[in-house]
Amino acid sequence: METPLLFLFCRKKMSLSTDENSPEVLTAIQATQMASRLCQKIRGELAGRNSITKSDRSPVTIADFGSQAIVCKWIKETFPDDIIVAEEDAEELREEVHANLLDQVVHYVRLFLPSASREQVCSWIDLGSRVLADRFWTLDPIDGTKGFLRNDQYAIALALIEKGQVKLGIMACPNLYQDKDRPEGEKGCLFLALKGRGSFQMDMDGGKKRVLAVSKVEDPWDAFFTESVESDHADHLFHRRVAERLNISKPPLRMDSQAKYGIVARGEAILYLRVPSPSEPEYREKIWDHAAGFLIAEEAGGKVTDIRGDPLDFSSGVEMEKNHGILVSNGILHDRVLKALKLE
Ligand code: AMP
Ligand code: MG
Repeated sequence: METPLLFLFCRKKMSLSTDENSPEVLTAIQATQMASRLCQKIRGELAGRNSITKSDRSPVTIADFGSQAIVCKWIKETFPDDIIVAEEDAEELREEVHANLLDQVVHYVRLFLPSASREQVCSWIDLGSRVLADRFWTLDPIDGTKGFLRNDQYAIALALIEKGQVKLGIMACPNLYQDKDRPEGEKGCLFLALKGRGSFQMDMDGGKKRVLAVSKVEDPWDAFFTESVESDHADHLFHRRVAERLNISKPPLRMDSQAKYGIVARGEAILYLRVPSPSEPEYREKIWDHAAGFLIAEEAGGKVTDIRGDPLDFSSGVEMEKNHGILVSNGILHDRVLKALKLE
């Protein structure tokens, strides 16, 4: 009799959003799966053509718009009161000069939601807000758009934040190899992390589920660290100096998107370094670029702070004003890396 009672008690205390069978988890999985199918379809047929350059000079493709439309619609349908803080909006897409682009977004969204109209697609994209709340989702419909355009790594990243804490992080990486020992083997990883309940990797259909754990390596000599492909997004030269100080002998694993958090979580890299690039000193990290990855790495036993050792702030705004750069480690090495980062 005792065990079931205890079990009931535990379940009652547990937050809904961290229960593996909660509507939050099931909805997040379905939404990201559908969005990644759309992205892969576009990737296969258009090879990433048809993009707009945004005012910050970053590219946005029909896949970014389609992915955001699908995920926002899916979440709002199940959780009508929830806010979704997302990267894109449909303002430019609604302009007459971009009518052709909008038609293509609608064409691809209709493969999944056949009755979608132009207006509906724009309004689903515009469900994305820039205002945070006590409980909100944050979405990067394609993180690593430059990687997507190069047919390299990219991710659909979605997180649920309650009272400033990331409760659920999900990240679909359609181009990421499943097994580090077989980089030419099967591709497509769905990462899921639930606060207090661990971090998991599945295939894109939700099969082959396995628990993730960071590397226990204490001597970095033979271990890998990871960083952005884009030198505008991180200071590669400084990373090299830090790696030398830590006695890391291997070259960096350069990878686009939050997939980097995934490879630390599964023990393939001991560190992910993101020291701000000197070419863009004013740049501030955005919450949708880190929330999902953060939980995936932490729940696998890793540690994530900024490069000063401060906790990441997901509650003050879209821009992480209180943080400077990002440091992800296997935990064991965190303080050593913080020290190495401080040396001039
Ligand atoms: P990554 O693939 O790790 O290089 O990161 C891609 C993300 O970097 C994009 O989603 C952008 O939001 C973000 N980004 C854009 N400009 C910068 C910058 N100057 N510094 C750091 N991140 C940036
Ligand atoms: Mg991004």
